[in-house]
Order: sequence, then C-alpha cells, then structure tokens
Amino acid sequence: MNIILLGPPGAGKGTQAQHLAQSRDMIQLSTGDMLRAAKDSGSEMGQIVADVMARGDLVTDDIVIGLIRERLQGDKRGGVIFDGFPRTLAQADALDNLLTEQGETLDAVIELRVDDDTLVQRIVGRAEEAKAAGQAVRADDNADSVRQRLMEYYKKTAPLIGYYHAKGKLVPVDGLGGIDAVKADIEAALDR
Ligand code: ADP
Repeated sequence: MNIILLGPPGAGKGTQAQHLAQSRDMIQLSTGDMLRAAKDSGSEMGQIVADVMARGDLVTDDIVIGLIRERLQGDKRGGVIFDGFPRTLAQADALDNLLTEQGETLDAVIELRVDDDTLVQRIVGRAEEAKAAGQAVRADDNADSVRQRLMEYYKKTAPLIGYYHAKGKLVPVDGLGGIDAVKADIEAALDR
C-alpha cells in the first residue's frame, strides 16, 4: 500500500506517518526530514536549501523529486507513506510517473484537516516547548516563517486536494480530534 499524507504545516503528518510506519511496516518518506538532514550534512545542496526552508518557502521541485526518486529505489517493505510530498502539482505528476515506472500504485491520499488558528498555536507551542526544554528550535518555527509556510501551502499545495479528489483518491480526515482519535480515523479509512 502506498499513501500520501496531505495537509498544512502543523497538521500532524509526521506524527501520523510514524505511527503508520510501525503499525503497517511501511516506510516513511519525509521530504522535510530529508532536507533537514541534507542541511545538517553541510553538503552543497544542503546549504542551498537551508535559507529557503528558514524563510518558509518551498524548495525547488527538481531537488525534492530527486530525493524521492533516490529513496524509491530501495526496499519498500509494506509500502510507502509520503509525508510532506508532493507539495506542488509538478511533484504530484512526477510521483505518478515514478510509481508507474516501478509498477506501483497510489492507494489513498489522507487529507488532514486542521484550521489555521490551531496550526499556528501548535507550531508556536512546539517551538516554546523545545526552548523551555533546552532543545533546538526549528529555524522555520517562528511567526514570520509560519505565515509564509501557510501561504505557500494555500497557493501551491492546496490545489492537490482537488487533483486527488478528481482521481478518486482523496480521504479527508478531521485532524483536530487528538492524536489517538486521528490515528483511529486514518486506520479505519485505510481498512475500508
Ligand atoms: P511542515 O509540514 O511542518 O511545514 P516539513 O518538515 O514537511 O514541515 O517541511 C519543512 C520545509 O521543508 C518546508 O517549509 C519547505 O521549505 C521544505 N520542503 C519539505 N518538503 C518539500 C517539498 N515536497 N517541496 C518543496 N519544499 C519542501
């Protein structure tokens, strides 16, 4: 089974992807995590993406599609959970082609629905918790970057909701119910 977790920043994609990776022996491909790892590695590509990410802008399609292409070569176990990818229509088309090349199909696109006020509260809360605990705060978890990330989401990523709806793949899930309630809703949707 191959699925996409779609939703704005702070919707809970990472949390739910980790859960599904365990419960269904799937692999989680998070482009955000891959890009942060590239940044930390100090590679040339990492330096290029660091500023873009800190501002809350999207990294170019070529870079993220390249990362995903590379990861799709390996063992896919029970399937792949795409977390934070695709984020543009060009990425969605590229993913379609990559899956077709490998004889794979896309089973479902889980859309995590959360309102803007809650998103901002969650992200700012996450940054404050990290600060109080003496942990690193993500460079893009500040008010300006969060506003920019939301703007990028509505301009470039939200059109994917219509795209996958038209393909009959979209499964909207209420992302407000608490982590365990959301987990249960996603599991039920995938078992249907
Ligand atoms: P969030 O979902 O909380 O915004 P992510 O960790 O998924 O966080 O992404 C962090 C940043 O990484 C994004 O704001 C963007 O700059 C970059 N990024 C991640 N995935 C993509 C993608 N598929 N396309 C372009 N940029 C991406």
